[in-house]
Amino acid sequence: MPEIRIDLSSDTSTRPTPAMRDFMAAAKVGDEQRREDPTVNRLVEMVCDLLGKEDAMYLPSGTMCNAIALRVHCQPSDEIIMDETGHTRHFETGGPAALCGALVYPLPGERGVFSAAQLRTAIRPPSNYFPRSRLIVVEQTSNLGGGSIWPLATIQEVCAVAEEHGLARHMDGARLLNAVVATGIPARDYAAPFDSVWIDFSKGLGAPVGAALAGSQSFIQEAWRWKHQFGGAMRQSGIIAAGAVYALQHHVERLAEDNANAQTLALGLAEVEGIQVRPVDTNLVFFNVGGLGLAAEQFNQLLTARGVRVSVIGGSQARAVTHLDVSATQIEETLAIVRDIAVEAQSGAPRT
Ligand SMILES: *Cc1c(COP(=O)(O)O)cnc(C)c1O
Repeated sequence: MPEIRIDLSSDTSTRPTPAMRDFMAAAKVGDEQRREDPTVNRLVEMVCDLLGKEDAMYLPSGTMCNAIALRVHCQPSDEIIMDETGHTRHFETGGPAALCGALVYPLPGERGVFSAAQLRTAIRPPSNYFPRSRLIVVEQTSNLGGGSIWPLATIQEVCAVAEEHGLARHMDGARLLNAVVATGIPARDYAAPFDSVWIDFSKGLGAPVGAALAGSQSFIQEAWRWKHQFGGAMRQSGIIAAGAVYALQHHVERLAEDNANAQTLALGLAEVEGIQVRPVDTNLVFFNVGGLGLAAEQFNQLLTARGVRVSVIGGSQARAVTHLDVSATQIEETLAIVRDIAVEAQSGAPRT
């Protein structure tokens, strides 16, 4: 396979910068399970401050943040209401069913964002027959929704309806900070109506490992039991958590560059005849290459042969994600390559 110079397949492909590596190498460490790792403790403080929550925990992945939060909130046979595009529903190997014995009630929102009125239709009245509606999940930004931003007012409305019916509220904030830099709304404002919320360090923030889950003291106390049971309680994890500390200090503001690069990419792609681009709010660009007479898989192979990679959603749908390791110049380069591929595809010229 040719070397991939421009990897737009995911913001998880970011690698730690030399400065981040130096910071990690020098990190003070201790036993995380005994809360004696000073770097993890520092990260926890930073996350509590950022998200306006009482307590937090460092975890190996965002998937484990969702798994633990759902496990704290739900009992077997409970129902979790989320958008039909939810990451937890599609990409976590059936975690809600396997780990909590919970059902997922999918709502057909708009670009991954459901309304308070839709939520009302999903909440079950008390009954001996129905599963018990227990939790709502909001994904900020919505991944399959197109990197779309949940407006603060919509969040407040759906959380108010959930609260009125005694449902707990969880935010999958894998890319919350992309929304924060796009709107200027502080993370703690988005997080305020939620019982639990997490952010990912291994995506656009550029750290190699980890995510942090935050909530009330009692929520995090209960979450520690599942962190142990799921095998996510670590030892000298300060050495990896240092990447997250560094990322929060140096890589938050710059997410604005990723959002801007995504806009440039979207505009450029939209100018190519045969490509249709979905609206772009943050760093995810979903587009359709069907008009070029290509499947997304074929399109990606043509890109890969030229050192560029996107991800294939299925059929003629593809996704390009901007991040720390893709520059504005590389976006221009990508667009030039896409234009070449489009010309070749439409002229029926031999493909390399
Ligand atoms: C990536 C992602 C996750 C999972 O995070 P990992 O750190 O890869 O386990 C969960 N939710 C959303 C919306 C994501 O994009």
